[in-house]
Amino acid sequence: MKTFLTNKFFLYVLLLFAGLMQAQKHSNPYYSRTDTEKLQVSNKEWKKILSPELYAVAREAKTERAFTGKYYEFDIKGTYYCAVCGNKLFQSTAKFASSCGWPSFYQPLSKTSVIYKKDLSYNMERTEVLCGRCDSHLGHIFDDGPEPTGKRFCMNSVCLDFVPMK
Ligand code: FE
Repeated sequence: MKTFLTNKFFLYVLLLFAGLMQAQKHSNPYYSRTDTEKLQVSNKEWKKILSPELYAVAREAKTERAFTGKYYEFDIKGTYYCAVCGNKLFQSTAKFASSCGWPSFYQPLSKTSVIYKKDLSYNMERTEVLCGRCDSHLGHIFDDGPEPTGKRFCMNSVCLDFVPMK
């Protein structure tokens, strides 16, 4: 029990530290957790700012491998922001344990959190979920989620910045 508590404490400290590092990480002049103004930034510009892993998913709509993301099987209380621009996306209270291999939520945090786009790639008809502020690809939405919405927002961990609740 003691080890469990200690581990949880260290994980919490690590997350806080990671959050601080994230805030200072390279200079992303567009990143803000309070500014809600829509962004118009070219991929050429994003490529200079974002890590290659984040750029590939957020700007080229690649998908991270299932069961590998840092927020899959992660249930700490807090808020998830867009890793590209800082827009508020999801609350941990809307996260649920999905067996799909990616972090899953049943609803976004607000009406400006995400936008939707039809995606016909890979011979499938899916709905893509994009950040409502910077238009970055976050994942897809499916109709097999739990109540109260029945939706499953299937997200890529790399596109999410998590801030634990204080
Ligand atoms: Fe964004």
